[in-house]
Amino acid sequence: MHDAVVVGGGPAGTITAGLLAADHDVVVLEEHATSGVPMQCAGLVTSDVIEMCGVRPDILNEIRGADVIFPNGGRFEVRGSGVKALLIDRTDLDRKLAAAAMDKGAEIRYGTKYIGHKISGGGVSSSTNAGELRSRLIIGADGCSSKTALSLGSNIPKEYIYGIEADAKRRPEHDDVMVLRLGAEFAPGFFSWEIPFGDMVRVGLCISPGRGAAPIDHLKKLLAASGIDMEDVVSKYAGKIPLGGRPRSYGDRTLLIGDAAGQVKPVSGGGLFPICKAAPILAETAKKSLLEDALSAERLRDYEKGWKKEIGRELSRGYKIRKMFTNLSDGDLNKIFEIIDRDDMRSILNEIDIDNPSGAALPMLKNMQVGLRFLPIMMRAMI
Ligand SMILES: Cc1cc2nc3c(=O)[nH]c(=O)nc-3n(C[C@H](O)[C@H](O)[C@H](O)COP(=O)(O)OP(=O)(O)OC[C@H]3O[C@@H](n4cnc5c(N)ncnc54)[C@H](O)[C@@H]3O)c2cc1C
Repeated sequence: MHDAVVVGGGPAGTITAGLLAADHDVVVLEEHATSGVPMQCAGLVTSDVIEMCGVRPDILNEIRGADVIFPNGGRFEVRGSGVKALLIDRTDLDRKLAAAAMDKGAEIRYGTKYIGHKISGGGVSSSTNAGELRSRLIIGADGCSSKTALSLGSNIPKEYIYGIEADAKRRPEHDDVMVLRLGAEFAPGFFSWEIPFGDMVRVGLCISPGRGAAPIDHLKKLLAASGIDMEDVVSKYAGKIPLGGRPRSYGDRTLLIGDAAGQVKPVSGGGLFPICKAAPILAETAKKSLLEDALSAERLRDYEKGWKKEIGRELSRGYKIRKMFTNLSDGDLNKIFEIIDRDDMRSILNEIDIDNPSGAALPMLKNMQVGLRFLPIMMRAMI
């Protein structure tokens, strides 16, 4: 019997497997033939994330600023000191994480699709397209449409947003500044992005379902607004992001991580930072519980307590901000531009921590003039 079966060979699965493999017999099940494809990510992370991952993926660009474009065309320039974010080759990251997990002793079974599992006789029986496996613990890291999460009941995220992206040939205006657009035309319910790298640009957006047209139609509009011809598009990818968390990340002999646990930053849709924070906590709980042979939901609850202590506040604050954001009309967004288009607000946003963005809200609202003008918009958005 294996100590742990990890379902999913994305970053959540391989980082977790790598942390457990030194002390335990760990098998990762990955339905695809290799790691990192299909790629469903903009690849934007902070250097802290790279450090926590413990591997160095290919860096496509260093991003030093952002131009935020409001629905009326108002442009808010954010220019901090130094590098704000890195654009990475996400496929390369996933491959390097998988190699690192295998170096540490984890087994990865590619082409192996998890179908379901049963808990019985002091263990977990997982069925796959390649037969059955027995383990003491199952770790669900099977992404946004997680089946393992549903083994814990009606364990669905509060909402999904749908993303689509294209890499295209185009010499961007700035080498190291990305463009974010707000408003219903390009990205109803979220935002769009244009991230330069060399003579290419990664253009993408997410939308809330039921608002606006299909994602591909918004992407076509965005490409046109960015001056990109369809024939210059080199590749396209799409995916969905769970927001607002799932009700549970643990159960009898079961732990969930990453998109499977709904651990995604609600303001930016970033999932890699929460995974890096949650994985060591999961590994610590799993190791202790395997050692003591105490794998009940009651004992594994420490994991949820631990990750919520570490990142729960930022995720729930971020989701409150998101709920307000989704209630804002284009007119409200334009008013916000008028309110924040001033040097003191720019200084606050220039120093924003992308991994903990809600931290910028309080200093902005503490400014009396700004806070008072924000109040009616916020009250409307909260209703
Ligand atoms: C358009 C878009 C842009 C994004 N941009 C960013 C960004 O810039 N920065 C950032 O931090 N995050 C970003 N994200 C989010 C990020 O990509 C995810 O949060 C992250 O990939 C989650 O990692 P994971 O390991 O939990 O899941 P995944 O990366 O989805 O990995 C899950 C793995 O499980 C496998 N799997 C699923 N079901 C089964 C099964 N039944 N059997 C076997 N294997 C299975 C899948 O093949 C996959 O390899 C973006 C997401 C989207 C959609």
